[in-house]
Amino acid sequence: MLTSRPSARSAEIMARARARFPGGVNSPVRAFGGVGGEPFVAKRGKGALVWDADGNEYLDYILSWGPLVLGHAPDVVLEAVSRAMQDGTSFGMPTEREVELADKIAERMPHMEMVRFTSSGTEAAMTIARLARAITGREYILKFEGCYHGHADAFLVRAGSGVATLGLPDSPGVPAALAKLTLTCRYNDLEEAARIAREYPLAAIMLEPIVGNSGFIEPLPEFIPGLRKIADETGALLVFDEVMTGFRIAFGGARERFGVTPDLTALGKVIGGGLPVAAYGGRRELMQNVAPTGKVYQAGTLSGNPLAMAAGLATLGALTQEVHDGITAQTGVLVQGMRDIAARHGVPFSASHSGSMWGFFFRDEPVHTYDDAKLSDTVLFKRFFHAARRRGVSLAPSAFEAGFMSSAHGDAEIAETLTRLDDALGAAVAQRD
Ligand SMILES: *Cc1c(COP(=O)(O)O)cnc(C)c1O
Repeated sequence: MLTSRPSARSAEIMARARARFPGGVNSPVRAFGGVGGEPFVAKRGKGALVWDADGNEYLDYILSWGPLVLGHAPDVVLEAVSRAMQDGTSFGMPTEREVELADKIAERMPHMEMVRFTSSGTEAAMTIARLARAITGREYILKFEGCYHGHADAFLVRAGSGVATLGLPDSPGVPAALAKLTLTCRYNDLEEAARIAREYPLAAIMLEPIVGNSGFIEPLPEFIPGLRKIADETGALLVFDEVMTGFRIAFGGARERFGVTPDLTALGKVIGGGLPVAAYGGRRELMQNVAPTGKVYQAGTLSGNPLAMAAGLATLGALTQEVHDGITAQTGVLVQGMRDIAARHGVPFSASHSGSMWGFFFRDEPVHTYDDAKLSDTVLFKRFFHAARRRGVSLAPSAFEAGFMSSAHGDAEIAETLTRLDDALGAAVAQRD
């Protein structure tokens, strides 16, 4: 089997990139810090496939970290974007496509009565914190360990060893005075969340309804309904950060999947179909607090960009219930296939999926928290990652990232993926000391 692939051109590009960008990248995870080795330098993608700068071909399960639910460069999106482009690339004025995309979101997520488009999930989450604080007149925010809500100061806060503590900054440059307003608690720990909500006046309780940023971690059945109850009893707003889960875990998102309606929601990734779009929204009376109707300021020169709106519209238009169900079924086949492979090789393993979002850990016991995730075999993960890469399967370069699936991954692609992963796991296990 393959032991190496051509990499001279990628190495040359990365050498130039390292002179121009910190770590050679424009977002840290792309540097492959979690697994080591040369980063992937992308050249081209089509459907389920992506090619690196050396011409090596990969079956892709990163899919731009979630947005590409129709696969790379789908014709419907290319056509919609090129049509939109003929009329101009940006206006900084209202356009009809913005209204159409907001309508399309509300069709599937009726609680998104009113939205505001932004260019990144970070902006959406950051503004939700501001809005929730303004609406409630409170300053504390409760988040959960291992949940990522973008890189705004308020969210770059780490949990104190399982016990809820006043937040400590996770990054230099985040003012301690601000970080202490962000409280953290273990995911799935309802009792601790209730205790914190009683003790501190919370503006918002914010979570990824399924975690995708510390591996794929699902909520226990009572967790999300319990948080709704705590929020109602204590006057906090319940916020779903669906930047990753939106239009992936269920056709109508977390509200449909868990039967719980949040007060405010952040969206991103899929709603831009590979172009920079995110949004925050919720009930009309809450969103009316945003400027210019309300006093909470938030703005963006390129917000609602016409090319990005066209890509989002084409993507959500093509993502019918039937297509969503198809991708969900294919994801199930991949996940079950991986379980079978792990069993054959006798390695501790757990894997699951919700809709087209999936993940696995080299660990037998169920994973309910980030601490559980950290007990998985990350050495085996690294070996498996590199073995898979050498065999033309592109997995997320970290044991703590979710995987994705697209409508372009058909039966043949999945069967081929499983054949390669079987071989890759064999090689990774053989390498183990
Ligand atoms: C990706 C992500 C963000 C940040 O979105 P960006 O567009 O990268 O700023 C926020 N929240 C969640 C849950 C995400 O997965």
